[in-house]
Amino acid sequence: MRGLHVGRFQPFHHGHLKVVDMIAEEVEEVVVAVGSAQKSHSTRNPFTAGERVSMITKALEDHEATTYAIPVEDLNRNAVWTEHLKSFCPPFQVVYSNNPLIVRLFEEDGFEVRKGHLFERDRYSGTEVRQRMIEGDDWRELVPDEVEDVVDEVDGVQRIRDVDEDDYY
Ligand code: NAP
Repeated sequence: MRGLHVGRFQPFHHGHLKVVDMIAEEVEEVVVAVGSAQKSHSTRNPFTAGERVSMITKALEDHEATTYAIPVEDLNRNAVWTEHLKSFCPPFQVVYSNNPLIVRLFEEDGFEVRKGHLFERDRYSGTEVRQRMIEGDDWRELVPDEVEDVVDEVDGVQRIRDVDEDDYY
């Protein structure tokens, strides 16, 4: 059985990694859909789809479960978004999400949706990582080493500071 996990992963942090590991305990393979693939170079979405795929692929390299990181662009029509997403992904049978819209859309599409796969939400959050990058605080402790490497490779901290706007929360 294959499970789907959707997120923006801006960037991929220890919380995301742990959630993928939790999902991998229940299914043989995990499809990680990298949402909002068209977005990058903003304070809320600093990293490109390719950079995020690279973060996820490297961070999960030594993990036992097979994972596929698949970029999926947003669509201005929620009613057909699950069909859009499925057209890019290997077949999956169960969806893991806590996002009410995603839960609703996949349930309407006939999928089993499993909720509650969280890991230390108070500690690990993409918003917190991005905020620390902007403010010069220690963001590195919140992400896997492989993600640090990708951020450094693309000069990601300087990028997010350059594109920062006042309304980034
Ligand atoms: P999101 O907008 O990226 O994140 C929403 C919030 O949920 C963030 O604070 C996120 O934290 C948090 N979160 C993510 N995974 C979590 C988890 N396992 N447990 C608890 N909180 C979690 O939404 P998303 O659900 O992660 O990603 C949804 C993606 O699907 C987006 O790219 C969205 O655009 C796309 N989508 C598109 C359409 C459409 O195009 N019509 C429709 C539905 C969804 P972090 O920042 O730490 O990840």
